[in-house]
Parts: sequence; structure tokens; C-alpha cells
Amino acid sequence: MSKTIYQERGIDVLDDRRILLTICPKCKHENYALNVNSGICTWCGYNAHEDAELKKRAINHKEDNE
Ligand SMILES: [Zn+2]
Repeated sequence: MSKTIYQERGIDVLDDRRILLTICPKCKHENYALNVNSGICTWCGYNAHEDAELKKRAINHKEDNE
């Protein structure tokens, strides 16, 4: 089972490098269920894996907990 290492509104970053995108931070739409696992927004094409700011927040959060 993969663990959530970082969470913010609509987004879960997992320890196996997956990012679950439930609600898109860009267009605020709820993501299509089949695309949640891909980390890509169905509606505007936002890709959580290419979001450098999100990665920075996730890494900082991880260091805070160590
Ligand atoms: Zn979007």
C-alpha cells in the first residue's frame, strides 16, 4: 500500500511518486475519476507532475516531518 506523504486541497502526493489529482488547483474542477491516478486534469490539462511549486511544497513538508 502506498502512503500519502503530502496533502493539500484536491491533491495527494504518494510515497511511490504518484500524485492523485481530485480537484484541479488551476481550473477548480473536480477531476474525472479515471484521470485522478494520472495526476492530470481532464478539463484544462494541468499536470501535477510538472508543477514545480507543488513538488517544492511536498518536499518541504516531508523535511518538516523528519
Ligand atoms: Zn484543471
